[in-house]
Amino acid sequence: MSVPTAQRLADGELLCELLRQFYSQGWCSGTGGGISLRSEDCILIAPSGVAKERVQPSEIFELATDFSPRNAAVLEARGLKLSECAPLFQAIYEKTGAGAVIHSHSVQFVVAMNHPGVKDRLGWERVEMLKGIRGVSYPERHEVPIIPNTPRECQLLSSLCEALDSLPSKAQAVFVRDHGAYIWGRDAMEAKRHAEIYDWLCQYANAMHSLGLKDTV
Ligand SMILES: [Zn+2]
Repeated sequence: MSVPTAQRLADGELLCELLRQFYSQGWCSGTGGGISLRSEDCILIAPSGVAKERVQPSEIFELATDFSPRNAAVLEARGLKLSECAPLFQAIYEKTGAGAVIHSHSVQFVVAMNHPGVKDRLGWERVEMLKGIRGVSYPERHEVPIIPNTPRECQLLSSLCEALDSLPSKAQAVFVRDHGAYIWGRDAMEAKRHAEIYDWLCQYANAMHSLGLKDTV
């Protein structure tokens, strides 16, 4: 294996730092959730089924841009497993041109999708925080698709691809009922911002719903 560049090392550190942040926010607790970043000529993915807040840069899977493994054999020999999210991340990279993807298990998402009347989309309008989604303005209506959950993460692939092929304008996420969401951005910082905004929007929807006020649709 070639010697990692300074940028590749920095991206590995960033991925671990984001996992710790997201763990503290409850987005990847109980070993769930995950992150993937593009780094130069490769894709970085956190390992599966481990405490995400303790992942070290040396434990990150590195795949070529065609998703062929580079260091999988080395990490598998250490007992680490590539995330079942990998084909889902790949579909998002290929269909959206994203530079980073976050898989969040935020409880705010799960609750927001269960409000009466919410079917295959969540939507908001006239909320200042919508401006945090790339290209969206305050009064504009913004919608994201919801797909049904499956027993295994990898089984989400076909419905995720269908949702990506008919994404509402400017949507930067696909939500998964009873599960969480896949959120992306041009780079790690934009994906993080989008994840924070969608989390805020769902918290807002949940708070409004608990007060019996206007809700998401
Ligand atoms: Zn998941």
